[in-house]
Amino acid sequence: MSDSDTTMDAGGGLRTPIVAVLGHVDHGKTSLLDKVRGSAVTSGEAGAITQHIGATAVPLETISDIAGRLVDPDDFDLPGLLFIDTPGHHSFSTLRSRGGALADIAVLVVDVNDGFQPQTLEAIDILKRTQTPFIVAANKIDTTPGWNPNPDTPVQQTLAEQSDRAEQRLNESLYEIIGELSDNGFSADMYWRVQNFRGNIGVVPVSAETGEGVPDLLAVLMGLSQRYMKEDMSIDTAGAGAGTVLEVKEERGFGTTLDVVLYDGSIRTDDTIVVGGKNDPIVTDVRALLQPRPLEEIRTEKRFEKVDEVTAAAGVKIAAPDLDEALAGAPVRVVRDRPEEEVVEEVRQELADISVDTAENGVVVKADTLGSLEAIANALEEAEIPIVRAEVGDVAPRDVAVASTAEEVTEEVILAFNVDVLPDARQEAGDRNIRLFEDDVIYQLIDEYEEFVDEIEREQQ
Ligand code: GDP
Repeated sequence: MSDSDTTMDAGGGLRTPIVAVLGHVDHGKTSLLDKVRGSAVTSGEAGAITQHIGATAVPLETISDIAGRLVDPDDFDLPGLLFIDTPGHHSFSTLRSRGGALADIAVLVVDVNDGFQPQTLEAIDILKRTQTPFIVAANKIDTTPGWNPNPDTPVQQTLAEQSDRAEQRLNESLYEIIGELSDNGFSADMYWRVQNFRGNIGVVPVSAETGEGVPDLLAVLMGLSQRYMKEDMSIDTAGAGAGTVLEVKEERGFGTTLDVVLYDGSIRTDDTIVVGGKNDPIVTDVRALLQPRPLEEIRTEKRFEKVDEVTAAAGVKIAAPDLDEALAGAPVRVVRDRPEEEVVEEVRQELADISVDTAENGVVVKADTLGSLEAIANALEEAEIPIVRAEVGDVAPRDVAVASTAEEVTEEVILAFNVDVLPDARQEAGDRNIRLFEDDVIYQLIDEYEEFVDEIEREQQ
């Protein structure tokens, strides 16, 4: 695989828009991504998709192949779409409001039978806060009673061809979703009636099972990117790379590595990089840039191959010394053509913008990424709950030690979002009577804590 294969460089300096897929658990995020990948593979285009670290790139020709008459490649000069592979919390909590959003555009997946659920609302909150444009994939339309699938035509037409009963049933569900969006402050409608996608949310009925609506979804994503976001996609491919850490991972033979989505410029094997860390920004030299090998080789050979350069937008694994303290959700910058100190200062500033205000007394919060930590801190602030310590990472004994110094029972508490509790920390929390609240839905985590506070207050009266 050559470098140009992995990056889909348009030549004209336009990069691939980065797409995140969000939504409530079980509403079909993974299935939808799989369907997009599957459709790309079966479209028969040579090199239909390229698998990146943490992302999948679908080139314009393949999108046009899948979408048929809905996408005429001559109308577009964007190179395709890059889908972030880890759907749900992980990618959306890493969406950054400042210093470069990870995703340019989002697909909010909503199960037509289930409607809006806590993580749907949570996703909407984050999309609002980060001002990320999005569309809604109203998924599982195939489960509508009496639905007569026709995967080969655009879904608007299929919908019109249903029996009256099926059409009516589905329309009811779809209008419920449109109503929920409107309750949340968005003007929304079925995508074929939306003229201006800037500020108006298009709803695309889809089935991740049959593939119906996938062509429509890709067409709307391409249209939206091409019409409204072209300026944001213009990059200097030779410029210093900028990206966001998706994950910090041990990798055999490479030590601690970073899975990064690069959204600007390029990164090369001889580059020095600055990465957001637990304390100060980390300055280190790239040891290797790694891409996944083609799928069929994974089992027979080593999983990664080394590449010399990666150009945005792309997912890449970076191996380098001293990454142990790196943070998921933190910025990564290549030092090129300007002083290292300036880049370090920029990363430090960006981290300071994210970091959470802590008080002298309050609860301990642990979360999986900087983005989720920030989202929880905002929610706690709204609920007027003070925080004494907020960090990315698993719950460790030292967190229990901090919680034990609290003056109030209601503050002898650790809120753990999407992280593990280390066994000795759990043991110690038990011994010291420290309450652990664990959840992967922000609203629920805070609700559980507030119920506990209410209970304590009732007891004290
Ligand atoms: P996620 O948690 O949002 O990633 O949801 P998954 O993609 O894991 O889907 C949850 C369940 O719903 C799985 O059993 C899927 O097979 C099923 N599912 C997802 N999309 C569809 C769909 O469009 N139609 C039907 N019938 N089932 C679906």
